[in-house]
Amino acid sequence: MPSAPQPTPSVTVIGLGPMGQAMAAAYLDRGYDVTLWNRTRSRADALVERGATFAESAEKALLANELVVLSLTDFDAMYAILEPAKAALAGRTVVNLSSDTPEKARAGARWVTELGGTHLTGGVLVPPPLIGTADASTFYSGPREAYDKHRPALEVITGKSDYRGEDQGLAALMYQLNMVIFWPSMIAYWQAVAMAAAHGITAAEIAPYATENFAGMGHFIDFYAPRIDAGNHAGDVDRVSMGLASMEHVVHTAADAGVDTAFPDAVLDVFRRVVEAGHGADSFSRAVELMAKKEEK
Ligand code: NDP
Repeated sequence: MPSAPQPTPSVTVIGLGPMGQAMAAAYLDRGYDVTLWNRTRSRADALVERGATFAESAEKALLANELVVLSLTDFDAMYAILEPAKAALAGRTVVNLSSDTPEKARAGARWVTELGGTHLTGGVLVPPPLIGTADASTFYSGPREAYDKHRPALEVITGKSDYRGEDQGLAALMYQLNMVIFWPSMIAYWQAVAMAAAHGITAAEIAPYATENFAGMGHFIDFYAPRIDAGNHAGDVDRVSMGLASMEHVVHTAADAGVDTAFPDAVLDVFRRVVEAGHGADSFSRAVELMAKKEEK
């Protein structure tokens, strides 16, 4: 017997920056019925041409579907858009993929819940071109039931989803932990590019070396993580005093080339403070204690 035809899955996407546009496009690729809303209407044009519907108001966008994906700059943008439409939140599941602090995520989730909606916090770990791909991943936290129910739709956005627990702040926290690694790492690369450029060397020329450098970071993380958790900061592999000297060489190389030194100066300052705290002979992993503001012994 032929099986009954499945209803067309549907979703509302609010927020059409580069991310929201990529998400809406991924849903269209998978045959979803997609309703859109965005403060700037023109960002929906290409998606509407592909068959998406632009709702007349945020309220109508909410009313169109039970599942509502938010992709906004931050949670303040959520209030700006949804406060005037809040009567329509009851019965909706809001998957908020906007970046913000864990506290803002918890408060935003309470606000949606008090209005009769369900909130899931998410943190997407890939840039727009990787949205809709199988290996891309997103952190989620909030009610397990809502995550389980909507998991197939969530895994249209990224093929993998990493549910961290009921606490709405956890996905935001995990996202921020990734960002505190991502942004400074890329700024470090920009610093290298600026220093190379001062010597007539292009970004493309140093790209393979930078890529190899980043690829090797996993080794350091795997090596130091269990030692840090065990409180082991022995200087058997590296010593802070060596790191301090090395960072001084970096700062001087930049200064000699007439390049800005603010970023390497900040790193140098960390090494200096660890040495001043009396840990010059230990591993530079000691810096974790300084950053955690634990009392120095
Ligand atoms: P953008 O900041 O470019 O776009 C965000 C959207 O928020 C736009 O639709 C914008 O509307 C809307 N918006 C912002 N402020 C307001 C407001 N006060 N009122 C109404 N609408 C508002 O972000 P992205 O699309 O790049 O990213 C979305 C989220 O995803 C962010 O939280 C970001 O941190 C996160 N993210 C982004 C990645 C990336 O590589 N882009 C990677 C991983 C996560 P309008 O179009 O009218 O300006």
